[in-house]
Amino acid sequence: MFHLFLHFAVPAVVVGLLYRHRWQLAYLLMMATMVVDLDHLLANPIYDASRCSIGFHPLHQPWFISLYVILCFIPKTRIIGLGLIIHMILDSVDCQTTNGVWIS
Ligand SMILES: [Zn+2]
Repeated sequence: MFHLFLHFAVPAVVVGLLYRHRWQLAYLLMMATMVVDLDHLLANPIYDASRCSIGFHPLHQPWFISLYVILCFIPKTRIIGLGLIIHMILDSVDCQTTNGVWIS
Protein backbone atom coordinates (compact mmCIF):
# COMPACT_ATOMS: atom_id res chain seq x y z
CA MET A 1 0.00 0.00 0.00
CA PHE A 2 2.89 2.35 0.76
CA HIS A 3 4.25 1.56 -2.72
CA LEU A 4 0.97 2.74 -4.28
CA PHE A 5 1.05 5.91 -2.17
CA LEU A 6 4.56 6.66 -3.49
CA HIS A 7 3.23 6.46 -7.08
CA PHE A 8 1.10 9.50 -6.24
CA ALA A 9 3.41 11.33 -3.82
CA VAL A 10 6.79 11.22 -5.61
CA PRO A 11 5.43 12.71 -8.88
CA ALA A 12 3.69 15.38 -6.78
CA VAL A 13 7.01 16.34 -5.19
CA VAL A 14 8.80 16.41 -8.56
CA VAL A 15 6.01 18.51 -10.09
CA GLY A 16 6.18 20.85 -7.10
CA LEU A 17 9.93 21.27 -7.59
CA LEU A 18 10.17 21.47 -11.39
CA TYR A 19 6.77 22.45 -12.79
CA ARG A 20 5.22 24.68 -10.16
CA HIS A 21 4.06 27.21 -12.79
CA ARG A 22 1.94 24.57 -14.60
CA TRP A 23 1.60 21.94 -11.91
CA GLN A 24 -1.92 20.80 -12.85
CA LEU A 25 -1.03 19.74 -16.41
CA ALA A 26 2.30 18.28 -15.29
CA TYR A 27 0.71 16.22 -12.51
CA LEU A 28 -2.09 15.06 -14.81
CA LEU A 29 0.47 13.89 -17.40
CA MET A 30 2.54 12.12 -14.76
CA MET A 31 -0.55 10.36 -13.41
CA ALA A 32 -1.46 9.39 -16.99
CA THR A 33 1.83 7.50 -17.26
CA MET A 34 0.39 4.95 -14.85
CA VAL A 35 -1.37 3.43 -17.88
CA VAL A 36 1.98 1.67 -18.32
CA ASP A 37 0.67 -0.77 -15.70
CA LEU A 38 -2.01 -1.96 -18.13
CA ASP A 39 0.58 -4.55 -19.18
CA HIS A 40 -0.22 -6.30 -15.90
CA LEU A 41 -3.48 -7.40 -17.55
CA LEU A 42 -1.42 -9.75 -19.73
CA ALA A 43 -0.05 -11.61 -16.71
CA ASN A 44 -1.65 -14.50 -14.89
CA PRO A 45 -2.45 -13.76 -12.13
CA ILE A 46 -2.96 -10.07 -12.99
CA TYR A 47 -1.69 -9.00 -9.56
CA ASP A 48 0.90 -10.83 -7.51
CA ALA A 49 2.35 -8.86 -4.60
CA SER A 50 5.49 -11.00 -4.57
CA ARG A 51 6.24 -10.55 -8.29
CA CYS A 52 8.85 -8.07 -9.51
CA SER A 53 7.35 -5.94 -12.33
CA ILE A 54 10.67 -4.77 -13.73
CA GLY A 55 11.85 -7.20 -16.37
CA PHE A 56 8.63 -9.23 -16.14
CA HIS A 57 5.83 -7.17 -17.68
CA PRO A 58 6.19 -6.10 -21.36
CA LEU A 59 6.28 -2.32 -20.74
CA HIS A 60 8.62 -2.77 -17.76
CA GLN A 61 11.43 -4.30 -19.86
CA PRO A 62 14.89 -2.67 -19.78
CA TRP A 63 14.79 -1.64 -23.45
CA PHE A 64 11.47 0.14 -22.87
CA ILE A 65 12.99 1.85 -19.84
CA SER A 66 15.79 3.06 -22.14
CA LEU A 67 13.10 4.59 -24.34
CA TYR A 68 11.59 6.34 -21.30
CA VAL A 69 15.01 7.83 -20.52
CA ILE A 70 15.22 9.18 -24.09
CA LEU A 71 11.76 10.78 -23.65
CA CYS A 72 13.23 12.78 -20.74
CA PHE A 73 15.65 14.51 -23.12
CA ILE A 74 12.99 15.64 -25.60
CA PRO A 75 11.31 18.84 -24.31
CA LYS A 76 7.81 17.93 -25.56
CA THR A 77 7.88 14.47 -23.95
CA ARG A 78 9.99 15.28 -20.88
CA ILE A 79 7.15 15.20 -18.31
CA ILE A 80 5.89 11.87 -19.64
CA GLY A 81 9.43 10.48 -19.63
CA LEU A 82 9.97 11.68 -16.08
CA GLY A 83 6.68 10.13 -14.97
CA LEU A 84 7.63 6.81 -16.54
CA ILE A 85 11.14 6.83 -15.06
CA ILE A 86 9.78 7.68 -11.60
CA HIS A 87 7.33 4.79 -12.01
CA MET A 88 10.10 2.36 -13.01
CA ILE A 89 12.36 3.49 -10.14
CA LEU A 90 9.53 3.04 -7.62
CA ASP A 91 8.69 -0.40 -9.05
CA SER A 92 12.36 -1.36 -8.87
CA VAL A 93 12.62 -0.20 -5.25
CA ASP A 94 9.52 -2.30 -4.57
CA CYS A 95 11.30 -5.31 -6.15
CA GLN A 96 14.25 -4.66 -3.89
CA THR A 97 12.15 -4.45 -0.73
CA THR A 98 9.96 -7.49 -1.52
CA ASN A 99 12.35 -9.80 -3.40
CA GLY A 100 15.84 -8.43 -2.78
CA VAL A 101 16.40 -7.76 -6.49
CA TRP A 102 16.21 -4.61 -8.63
CA ILE A 103 15.00 -6.48 -11.73
CA SER A 104 13.50 -9.94 -12.23
ZN1 LIG B 1 4.54 -0.58 -12.83
